[in-house]
Amino acid sequence: MEKIKTCRICNNKNIVEFLDLGEQPPANSLMKNIDDEEVFYPLSLSWCPECNLVQLNHTVDPKELFSNYVWVTSTSKTAREHSEVFYNDILSRTNNLEEGYVIEAASNDGTFLLPFVKNNYKVLGVDPAQNIVNIAVSKGVPTICRFFGTDTAEELLQNHGPAQVIIVRNVLSHVANLHDFVKGLNICLKEDGLLAIEFHYAKEIFEELHYDSIYHEHLCYFTLKSVENLLNRYNLFVNDIKESPISGGSLILYVKKEKGTVSPTVQRYRDIEKTIKINELRSWKDFATKVYSHRDQLLEILKDAIKTKGPIVGYGASARSSTLLNFCGIDSKYVTKIADQNTLKHKHYTAGTHIPIESPEDVMSEKPEYVFILAWNFTDEIINSLRENFDFNGKCILPLPNNPKIVNVRE
Ligand SMILES: [Zn+2]
Repeated sequence: MEKIKTCRICNNKNIVEFLDLGEQPPANSLMKNIDDEEVFYPLSLSWCPECNLVQLNHTVDPKELFSNYVWVTSTSKTAREHSEVFYNDILSRTNNLEEGYVIEAASNDGTFLLPFVKNNYKVLGVDPAQNIVNIAVSKGVPTICRFFGTDTAEELLQNHGPAQVIIVRNVLSHVANLHDFVKGLNICLKEDGLLAIEFHYAKEIFEELHYDSIYHEHLCYFTLKSVENLLNRYNLFVNDIKESPISGGSLILYVKKEKGTVSPTVQRYRDIEKTIKINELRSWKDFATKVYSHRDQLLEILKDAIKTKGPIVGYGASARSSTLLNFCGIDSKYVTKIADQNTLKHKHYTAGTHIPIESPEDVMSEKPEYVFILAWNFTDEIINSLRENFDFNGKCILPLPNNPKIVNVRE
């Protein structure tokens, strides 16, 4: 673990800390046994007065976080549906793709390359987790096990030539050496090629208080302004923008090597960012104030519910829930068990807060009055399942977005 001394994009020495979420374990480090040893790293954010990047103050060794990864893209229904839309969109923006090939950096299990493979386009996935690469290859998506950067880019260029399309989804915020990564993109992108970059947009985090998406894997929280500052340094220019439903609000940037004309959409986003002052320190200080008060409100709601109706259970032991539980100090005294559909997580305990994770069937057999929905970005899907599969008639506590609230499932 390293503390940064300068801004991750512009090297400014005077970055300003504005939010401290305390010492936290890596979000995906679920425990097999409750007395396993745990590591905790500081989790705090700074803002850069030069390039306005919002960023973590500490970097946990990427090998520790990503070499054996637990997130598999295809388990998300939203992601599977989005991959088809994404494919069609790329195709409509590219000429002569049949003569070139598509690279995806951090391609995970190949979900987003699969539609290209099915339509006989040449692809190559690059991902650092061998366990996930094996899954991709078994599905017929050619994938090599590497971290993406200038070295990998040179190798790809030499072996396959420049790529017509490069896809970079939800990885830029994970990258410790941003400069090496973006330089690599420039190296292996064809002169008239298309680069599609998707990321959880800082505007959504800022406006809806998604502070639970802040964890050690996410080093940067990009606005259009801060990401353009990074890309422009490597002669990559944002040409158009589209919204995506991933992570509760993401942007897809279409980037080219040629500066060219930008679409009115790009200008609209630049204007919105000015209007809502998202690139100013004052706004992020307000955000921090709201985060601290959100914690107090949430704890009040949980304590009240426990006082009147007894023990509460949780739903969704996601990575995001780890930040929320650890920051708010919600442990097994508040939440007795957490239900999760992923069987790999069963018979484990949440990192830092030690709440047992079980199957939804096990957890709901206790007939709880309240269910605390930790994976709140899947609220509709979860409430439907509680109604249909467990005949649940109680109440759900939703921590986010914005203020925590209680909803009656019967309504
Ligand atoms: Zn900076």
